Amino acid sequence: MSTNRTFTMIKPDAFGAGNAGAILKMIEEAGFKLVAMKITQLSGEAAGKFYAVHQARPFYKDLCAYMSSGPIIAAILEKENAVADFRKLIGATNPADAAEGTIRKLYATSIEANAVHGSDSDENAAIEGSFFFSEMEKVGV
Ligand code: ATP
Ligand code: MG
Repeated sequence: MSTNRTFTMIKPDAFGAGNAGAILKMIEEAGFKLVAMKITQLSGEAAGKFYAVHQARPFYKDLCAYMSSGPIIAAILEKENAVADFRKLIGATNPADAAEGTIRKLYATSIEANAVHGSDSDENAAIEGSFFFSEMEKVGV
């Protein structure tokens, strides 16, 4: 069963390049509603916790440094079939493989600096949303 929420981050490359507004417009035009949103910056430690699942991967250290290198937007999004539909909207991890018209095809600069994050399961969407937001910060249940 799929739930109707996912979690996203506009990563430091896209935020720093001034693409946050254009990306949020694409997200809203694709039918996602904003449930919670904030601008913040991860510490290296917080990035390490968020991406702990990738701890054993060779790119983990670089990923944590990159994700804590500048401000991001964190947001919870609502739509029917949110997790799968959002992964489709953002495109493949490596922008070179991302389909035309996807957010990563348009705005990512490398496999690491790939503009946006999207949760990969309903369970992780809930965990990741709660990493950034308290219940009080979420609207429109
Ligand atoms: P995300 O979880 O950010 O939505 P994803 O699910 O498409 O991305 P993951 O495999 O979960 O991809 O990797 C998490 C992040 O780690 C990627 O988005 C990217 O920033 C970075 N990453 C993944 N693979 C590599 C790699 N081979 N080299 C460098 N960075 C990588
Ligand atoms: Mg992932």
